[in-house]
Amino acid sequence: MKKKELLYEGKGKRLFKTADENLLISEFKDDLTAFNAQKKGSEKGKGALNCKISTELFKLLEKNGIKTHLVETISDNEQLVKKVDIIPLEVVVRNIATGSLTKRLNIKDGTVLPFSLLELYFKDDDLGDPLLNDEHCTLLNIASKDELEVLKNEAKKINTILKSFFKDKGLNLVDFKVEFGKDKDGNILLSDEISPDSCRFWDINTNEKLDKDRFREGIGNVKVAYEEVLARILDNN
Ligand code: UDP
Repeated sequence: MKKKELLYEGKGKRLFKTADENLLISEFKDDLTAFNAQKKGSEKGKGALNCKISTELFKLLEKNGIKTHLVETISDNEQLVKKVDIIPLEVVVRNIATGSLTKRLNIKDGTVLPFSLLELYFKDDDLGDPLLNDEHCTLLNIASKDELEVLKNEAKKINTILKSFFKDKGLNLVDFKVEFGKDKDGNILLSDEISPDSCRFWDINTNEKLDKDRFREGIGNVKVAYEEVLARILDNN
């Protein structure tokens, strides 16, 4: 399947049309952005790492009953995916408090949450991706009540599967963001990516951060950390 014209360029990926109107090619970029793109950078090979990591995790989730947009991975940094209309929500699940949650509610960084906290953010850069509740979603016609139930349940299932998978790999899944889309038949599919750009991973023994916080906080060795995450995912022991 060959790339045709560029349909959309986001911060981390480009989407291209293909000869099949129901399929797109998603190309993972090396660019890194943080704080609503106020901080920008690039790491050669980061796109390929995220493509591999996301492919492995989407395959794991598919095996466990989660429907995704992934058809197949066709090169180091490209996936063939089903065309979906993205629901403009960032669905965040948190197991350990860090990042914006600690600042907004003055919760101590690293607090293990008594239950997995699900949050919805409106994907709107101009508004700074505000936190929404279900009624805001209905008010703005972002998703119906039934669709919200589906995507919240899917996000919680994804958390259960990934949390246990990463625990076996010596990583705490601190939090993550997922996005969903609707295919031509109205099915809600996990879309976008799951990678160290969209998740936080802390080493279980040392609490070392192995995710985009290394870029956000200027810790360095971003690519080394992403390589470590991929190595642990691929490690079958
Ligand atoms: N996240 C993301 N994209 C965003 C905002 C957040 O992928 O635009 C992810 C982030 O990597 C983390 C989780 O969602 O795993 C929760 O992020 P948080 O709300 O704490 O935001 P931040 O501290 O990054 O502003």
